[in-house]
Amino acid sequence: MKEDYYEILGVGKSASAAEIKKAYRKMALKYHPDKNPGDSKAEDMFKKAAEAYEVLSNADKKARYDQFGHAAFDGSGGFGGGGGMNMDDIFSQFGDIFGGAFGGSGGFSGFGGFGGGQRRAKGSNLRIRVKLTLEEVANGVEKKVKVRRKLQADGVTYNTCSTCGGSGQVTKITNTILGRMQTAATCSACGGSGQVINKKPSDADAQGLKVVEETVSIKIPAGVEEGMQLKVPGKGNDAPGNGIAGDLLVAIETEDHSTLKREGDNLHYDLYISISEAVLGTSKEIDAVGGKVRIKLESGIQSGKILRLRGKGISSINGYGSGDLLVHVNVWTPKELNKEQKEFFERMQGNENFEPKPEKSDKSFFEKVKDMFS
Ligand SMILES: [Zn+2]
Repeated sequence: MKEDYYEILGVGKSASAAEIKKAYRKMALKYHPDKNPGDSKAEDMFKKAAEAYEVLSNADKKARYDQFGHAAFDGSGGFGGGGGMNMDDIFSQFGDIFGGAFGGSGGFSGFGGFGGGQRRAKGSNLRIRVKLTLEEVANGVEKKVKVRRKLQADGVTYNTCSTCGGSGQVTKITNTILGRMQTAATCSACGGSGQVINKKPSDADAQGLKVVEETVSIKIPAGVEEGMQLKVPGKGNDAPGNGIAGDLLVAIETEDHSTLKREGDNLHYDLYISISEAVLGTSKEIDAVGGKVRIKLESGIQSGKILRLRGKGISSINGYGSGDLLVHVNVWTPKELNKEQKEFFERMQGNENFEPKPEKSDKSFFEKVKDMFS
């Protein structure tokens, strides 16, 4: 059972954005890995708080969390509304939380020493939304999108930064509300890249970057859901100097289908047939992802029967098989009859063949529902 995000941050459900931010700031400082070296419990709390803040600080995610709880982000297979954050993701929140005091520019950490090794400056992330049809969701799709990225301009030359000697970081003693801390801070002279611009073309910005429209191909796996976020590494903005490019974050939106309703990996379709079709049997074309499917209905089929077309649902995002297409049979009772038809049904009243005789196989609605979820 996942802990409640509000409880993690120690705020009430009606807490304002400012209160949520303040509560997170407090926890991030208390459990920061630099303050608790080697303490895995503190690291765990640090990550939990970051995940809670990630969701509660975003109006969309917060609204979904308030309505559905953790289920709002379930089944996300590692994409996640808030789950699966790595330390880089967490540190990249800090620019927002701590302002210039802690956050490095371009989304890299102002804290040193975590994860070991030299931290290379990372370009900022780009965010786009992609809208998918049910067919695209069912089978997966490759989408080509136009993205305006900031890329390193041609002809930019660099010198090694003299302030930090090219490391991108300077060690300094800071007085924080935690007391004196020795931190490896991002070099302000070069923005952490270790290099300063020597020459640049006139159309490049101060960091030697220039906006370029690029077509990016995004492979979207089958089975994604509304609200999931995919990451295309390295397709965000370039970092200045020898840094690495940020990521392209792709928010998934899904269109409703006119006749098919999704439920997990299964699809549902409501089929209406006439009384005579139910009595005599028939074959019908129904909608399925990837085209129409013809199904046969035996004579004497009952209203409420659910036909299961195995594997005709959505491919599982985990890659394990596919859901089913469940066809709900509804027998349409005519509301208007002419004289002849009325006389026919009147003659059939009390006829033995028209008397309901449900068998064991004609399960009640509730038993069918139970079967479907077992
Ligand atoms: Zn520097």
